[in-house]
Amino acid sequence: MSAAIFSKIGQALRDHQRFAVLSHVRPDGDALGSELALALALEKLGKTVRVWNEDGMLEKYNFLPRAELLTKPPAEKEDVDVAIALDTAVQSRLGNTVDAIGSAKLWINIDHHPSNPGYGDLVYIDPVSPATGQILFDLITDQKLPLTQEIAENLYVAISTDTGSFQYPNTTARTFEIAAELIRAGVDVGRVSQQLYENYPRRRIELLRELLGTMRFEGRGRVVSFSLSLKMAKDLEVLPEDNEGLIDHLRSIRGVIVAVFFEELAEGKVRVSMRSKTEKADVCAICTKFGGGGHKLAAGARVRGTLAEVERKVLEAICDVVDCNS
Ligand code: 5GP
Ligand code: MN
Repeated sequence: MSAAIFSKIGQALRDHQRFAVLSHVRPDGDALGSELALALALEKLGKTVRVWNEDGMLEKYNFLPRAELLTKPPAEKEDVDVAIALDTAVQSRLGNTVDAIGSAKLWINIDHHPSNPGYGDLVYIDPVSPATGQILFDLITDQKLPLTQEIAENLYVAISTDTGSFQYPNTTARTFEIAAELIRAGVDVGRVSQQLYENYPRRRIELLRELLGTMRFEGRGRVVSFSLSLKMAKDLEVLPEDNEGLIDHLRSIRGVIVAVFFEELAEGKVRVSMRSKTEKADVCAICTKFGGGGHKLAAGARVRGTLAEVERKVLEAICDVVDCNS
């Protein structure tokens, strides 16, 4: 199945000259690492490549090889031959990067979100792949595209971050085989891991301290949540990226099935981030009810309302699924 579509995508990459590589707003390591990896492979083929993200490069991923290639989209539109959406479940999550594309002859969509409806002309979605970076590794090797040390390191970061350091249940033998190949291609595991997991700004841990102060449990400890208000974010001078992964502290508690993080946003909305320990409590289904999506064990949504309103509605919906009263 993948062979035919990989050769079509490979052909499109070889046949065209001008590319825009895009990914979702509020990017994570998989989004940014995948964008840079594919862009570097295209650059190595002599292509002209734009690498855009609405949020630009995040400070904490500045160590990624050739991080400077990834920018916010320009105000002036540009025509390209091919636009490529990576790791982006719905086209709207590409944010303002789409506005910078004057025209594109072809749209390619490569992703691992089960909720991806398959927008675009050439589509490859593998919902069981733990990271878009893993799909890109398969595409690159299948199509004999360049795999330099810089590309390998970007792919390694994509896979490491989306598997929670090779721990989530979607991590397979294949994931470790790919990691091994990437290490053979030159990834320095110790250095990359330190950059990823032992280089947090102090304000992130101070934020964690505040968040733990708001921690509450429902359903006899099966559901746990904490909340970040706009005031707290302002007082601590945190960046949106500082809270990525803090929800894992909630998930790590024994007896917890669903963990939730509520983040008040400026536009009268609340960003909801959810994690589950079992497919029986499908948080993608819950988030879909609120206009969001994602994976069964990790999902999110942006919900209109005040922090208190959204907390109440969302926790109620979770309790219906997790059966908090039994
Ligand atoms: P996170 O909680 O880390 O922000 O996101 C977890 C997963 O849910 C990611 O795979 C992400 O793509 C998805 N997700 C987060 N927020 C939204 C949203 O507002 N809409 C959709 N469709 N998916 C989301
Ligand atoms: Mn991903």
